[in-house]
Amino acid sequence: DLEIALKVVIVGNGAVGKSSMIQRYCRGTFTRDYKKTIGVDFLERQIECNGEDVRLMLWDTAGQEEFDAITKAYYRGAQACVLAFSTTDRDSFEAIHSWKIKVEDECGKIPTVIVQNKVDLIERSQVNPQEVDILARSLGCKLICTSVKDDVNVNNVFRYLATRCLKE
Ligand code: GDP
Ligand code: MG
Repeated sequence: DLEIALKVVIVGNGAVGKSSMIQRYCRGTFTRDYKKTIGVDFLERQIECNGEDVRLMLWDTAGQEEFDAITKAYYRGAQACVLAFSTTDRDSFEAIHSWKIKVEDECGKIPTVIVQNKVDLIERSQVNPQEVDILARSLGCKLICTSVKDDVNVNNVFRYLATRCLKE
């Protein structure tokens, strides 16, 4: 039977853990100083979802997000999106809305999840749970809290998006 391929873009401010999340999900590893040296645009992982074979292509940036210089090629044809921020970086939380607008401008409305990463550092949190909830609700997105470091909830992010895409 046919295999479904999904392009997923992962956006958010620098250092929130986007590359680490992709590496964790596709390679099962975590390092403190992961830099994009792999020389490809995306990593992929195959999963089974509702009895279908789904190939998830997770697109990484090479740090262009810090200069607001992500090209159209990055977004082109994306079918799902992760909006990521860090528990310990308030600016990254406040930037979520504008990241959503950027993705929507290029891709239209696609299944999107907000990820609050680094929940292992909750004692250094710069956001409170209520305001995160309010943001997710006002943007109409599911919220998933992750620790890429401790491998908490990372699989759920991509399983949720794959399930949403299969329903559309
Ligand atoms: P990116 O710029 O969004 O791609 O962020 P990176 O993946 O390069 O991660 C930035 C830093 O945060 C790295 O030092 C990672 O090891 C670290 N990091 C990523 N995820 C987590 C996490 O869940 N917990 C902690 N404590 N550190 C993390
Ligand atoms: Mg990165």
